[in-house]
Amino acid sequence: MSEQKLSTRLIHTGDGQDYKKIAQSASVPEVLPVYLTSVFAFDDVPSVDDIYDHKTDGYIYSRIKHPNTDAVASILTAAEGAEDALLFSSGMSAIIISILAVVSSGDHIIASPVLYGGVHDFLQNELARFGVEVTFVDFINDDVEKYIKPNTKLIYTETICNPLLEVPDLKKTADIAHKHGLLFYVDNTFATSVVVSPYKFGADLVLYSTTKFLGGHSDIVGGAAVGKADVIAKIRPKLVLYGAVLSPMDAWLLARSLRTLELRVTKHSQNALKVAQFLEKHPKIEKVFYPGLLSSPDHERAAAQFNNGLFGGMLSANLRGGEREASTVIASMPTIKYVPSLAGTATTVSYAAKTSHRAYTKEQLDAAGITFGQLRFSIGLEDADDIIAEISAALEKI
Ligand code: PLP
Repeated sequence: MSEQKLSTRLIHTGDGQDYKKIAQSASVPEVLPVYLTSVFAFDDVPSVDDIYDHKTDGYIYSRIKHPNTDAVASILTAAEGAEDALLFSSGMSAIIISILAVVSSGDHIIASPVLYGGVHDFLQNELARFGVEVTFVDFINDDVEKYIKPNTKLIYTETICNPLLEVPDLKKTADIAHKHGLLFYVDNTFATSVVVSPYKFGADLVLYSTTKFLGGHSDIVGGAAVGKADVIAKIRPKLVLYGAVLSPMDAWLLARSLRTLELRVTKHSQNALKVAQFLEKHPKIEKVFYPGLLSSPDHERAAAQFNNGLFGGMLSANLRGGEREASTVIASMPTIKYVPSLAGTATTVSYAAKTSHRAYTKEQLDAAGITFGQLRFSIGLEDADDIIAEISAALEKI
């Protein structure tokens, strides 16, 4: 072959050989690198056939799967004590694709009315367009079993419901679902497997917005589904088809965050309990929603299911007042920023009626117990005394 020209040498030098050299090295990277490649190269046709035919394992195209999503899937599977996991580009895509994979036109779903607003919107408005009916049932005070119909396929709830922090009985609901041959999905975003493992209580699928505590640093958007292998096997082709893959960089950041999940969620929970106890006694606070409080109607149920006396980093509080008072408190906190998300290292405040549950009608807000005087705090990893001092000073302004 004649000597190659400059552009050819620039493009092909190293070409695949770099990776083979690493694979043959006596050492391995201490941390899995980021695989920033959209596709994988093969020497011949049978090698690709073998992967498509499941004769060997391997990577073909990063929308299907890539090493960084595989790495996170293994960590999440181990954390939950489950069988398999999938990673998605957002919590919403994880939830929507996992639901669409198991229902068809004419089917029926039972869901809690107190859910993340986007999921409520999907269940209430989008699924109807596909001929799937949803009944919203109060999982705490009503009997879910009563609403099961011959075409019911799925029961859906959150472990700690957003934003009122209600805690349904997971085992009881899983048993009802399985008695009737239904699937039971649980969004465990607020709790994480540090606080509770819904899988151990019988959930078929545990869903996450990994944007929140799993990511934990407010720098990635992602989602995950962790659970039984046969359920994951139904969802996997839909994830590939709809193309909601988590990027290698975001998956790498998520893997790094998961290494410290237990440390972080333990501190988030310990701090949140202290803040909840402070707010509970404050004269300008009408009501505090936190399952760790002995006064919470959810406390006993939560304590029976949750690990190590931890109740998570999220809490809500009703101020004595409405939108004016809520706005004053929000504007009076210098480091506790108004952030329409949650679960970063810093304490933040959100306002469900104006952000996550904005799409709710007045009636839906009332039914879900969401008011204009209600603030939701994501308690961070700062010193608890400093968090309390800042909230205390802001409450003095109303
Ligand atoms: N589930 C819960 C409980 C959430 O709070 C959110 C978002 O706030 C989602 C799901 C949706 O996740 P994402 O924003 O990553 O799509």
